[in-house]
Amino acid sequence: MDVLAEFRALLGSAHILTGNDAAPYLTDWRGLYCGSALCVLRPATTEEVAKIVGLCADQDIAIVPQGGNTGLVGGAIPGEGQRAVVLSTTRMTTVRKFDPESNTVTVEAGCILQTLQDYCFERGRLFPLSLGAEGSCTIGGNLATNAGGSQVLRYGNARDLTLGLEVVTADGQVWDGLSGLRKDNTGYDLKSLFVGSEGTLGIITAATLKLFPLPRSKITALVALADLARAVVLLCRTQALLGSGLTAFEVMSGDCLRLVSNCFPNQRLPFEAGPADAPWFVLFELSSNEEQDRAQDSLETLLSEAFEAEEITDAVPASSVEQARALWHLRESIPLAQSERGKGIKCDIALPVSDIAAFVAEMGAELSHVFPGVCVMPFGHLGDGNLHYNIVPSEAFGEDEIQASHDRLYEMVHDAVHCRGGSISAEHGIGQLKRHELLRYKTPHELSMFRAIKSALDHSNILNPGKLI
Ligand code: FAD
Ligand code: ZN
Repeated sequence: MDVLAEFRALLGSAHILTGNDAAPYLTDWRGLYCGSALCVLRPATTEEVAKIVGLCADQDIAIVPQGGNTGLVGGAIPGEGQRAVVLSTTRMTTVRKFDPESNTVTVEAGCILQTLQDYCFERGRLFPLSLGAEGSCTIGGNLATNAGGSQVLRYGNARDLTLGLEVVTADGQVWDGLSGLRKDNTGYDLKSLFVGSEGTLGIITAATLKLFPLPRSKITALVALADLARAVVLLCRTQALLGSGLTAFEVMSGDCLRLVSNCFPNQRLPFEAGPADAPWFVLFELSSNEEQDRAQDSLETLLSEAFEAEEITDAVPASSVEQARALWHLRESIPLAQSERGKGIKCDIALPVSDIAAFVAEMGAELSHVFPGVCVMPFGHLGDGNLHYNIVPSEAFGEDEIQASHDRLYEMVHDAVHCRGGSISAEHGIGQLKRHELLRYKTPHELSMFRAIKSALDHSNILNPGKLI
């Protein structure tokens, strides 16, 4: 029997996609990568995943795991001409267990992040992972990329939220590590190895995740600032005043927000002309277990202190849940608005928070000197020291110029980040896009440990080859 017939016998023809049906799985969100595959397989159970891996291992076929296909580094797309299958988890969506006393939920890998958030919310618990792609990305993809997003400041990233995993390993065995334990020092932490491994060490089929009580009140505000250094001062002030009550602190250059309101005219900046021209904005969110009135008082104290210290030039606190949603929508529309401008360059960098303002000032001057007219539109999770330092096409320096200078631009930004002890991928991972960059910045010792781990867990290199390392 040929391998496609074996897959058909295992899953039924309806769950094996080829030709036009497979096309959406073979190109990424940004349209940067286009791959090929024998077929797309859509298993419904862990046992089916294990059998697929067994068959592929026998026939030396590469397996590219894919969740929502919202990744930004080409990790879920097979290479061109690779003898590969895409293994889509989108049928594996069951919540296996909800345990409010232990504050845990066990869910299958293909569950959409927002579906899980809603499921937990309806049962009085918070699953705090939150990102712009939450309506499409999956838990498996979130864990495989160790996703960050807007609530890391308070609740940590995907790895911090993971208590246990179920994984199909490259030999087709199922590792049941679905422990919901918060303490377990019995040797190497296998789950932490699979989280962030981008499908190169195993296929995550389910996870046990941490939950939190729902906050009683939530306050969102957008403030305008004269410069980025003031945003860092405001961050420190807010943390000093509210501690872990600060759940998000997102910074955006003024150009980012103005681009959103130009691109999507129904999304207007909630400021008059003067403050709407501000060079920087911060969107922050405070959550607490106090009543809304008390939380409102804390916000007023914070804003009046910040005005007095000349840290902010204007502020719009959301007066309703709808207005808070509209402010978040502005922030979350930035990636889409930037991509409407054409193909740019995304630099997903992390630096010590105290270095960020100087980095942005110095890097901007250096890039403009070498590439006159270059347009940088940074935004990101300032509280985590993570900026999306994106280079966006402009009239003076368009898509063609950017693509022609791609490697040099990457090198300039990444060298500067590396020199300051930063990271060239804070939350999107390495995938295909940054493989060469990884080789440049990891030491030979680190790379040899990476290779030892990969060959110990997948010595035939069938799991997502050509990604990460
Ligand atoms: P996919 O894109 O399908 O896959 C991503 C990687 O994980 C691939 O290497 C794939 O092989 C692997 N993988 C997928 N499922 C599994 C599995 N079950 N087992 C093993 N490997 C698997 N990311 C952030 O971290 N923070 C953000 O704030 C953020 N904002 C975004 C905003 C927008 C508008 C978009 C489009 C993307 C954003 N991202 C962000 C990136 C992306 O959403 C995340 O990387 C997300 O975690 C990917 O999930 P996914 O299900 O789409 O994974
Ligand atoms: Zn982000």
